[in-house]
Amino acid sequence: MERTLILLKPDAVAGKFCGKVIDKFESAGFTIRGCKMIRLTPAILKEHYAHVADKPFYPEIEKFMSSVPVIALVLEGEDIVVKMRDMLGVTDSRKAAPGTLRATFGKDVMINVAHASDSLETAEKEVARFFREDELFAY
Ligand code: ADP
Repeated sequence: MERTLILLKPDAVAGKFCGKVIDKFESAGFTIRGCKMIRLTPAILKEHYAHVADKPFYPEIEKFMSSVPVIALVLEGEDIVVKMRDMLGVTDSRKAAPGTLRATFGKDVMINVAHASDSLETAEKEVARFFREDELFAY
């Protein structure tokens, strides 16, 4: 079993379609192990998006991602890291395959519904970045 870190982005929270997205996760058989609402600070965003922090569009990402609180989830499932990235679709919502979450709910390359860890190694780091062990539940 693998775990992955999801952030339901400000567009999902403000647009009131978090429930629809979570319904897709549950329908896929994934288990919620942790869930909380957080307002992301510039400091945590710089760490989380370190791989794009030197890009010219980074200030826009920081503004967008801190505009409205996000909903952070830790989900568990077999091969969930790859399955979740497939379910989400490519970064640019306009280019995402039909039926993916980004094609269905996303707007563009920045406003794109959710973050999902891109590898098993990243997932472990990202889960630890947003959740303490006592905020994750086995049941
Ligand atoms: P992904 O979220 O698909 O893993 P990246 O790690 O490449 O994508 O980028 C992180 C986030 O930065 C994206 O989800 C998106 O919100 C934003 N982003 C990426 N590329 C751009 C861009 N060219 N312009 C504006 N925002 C971008």
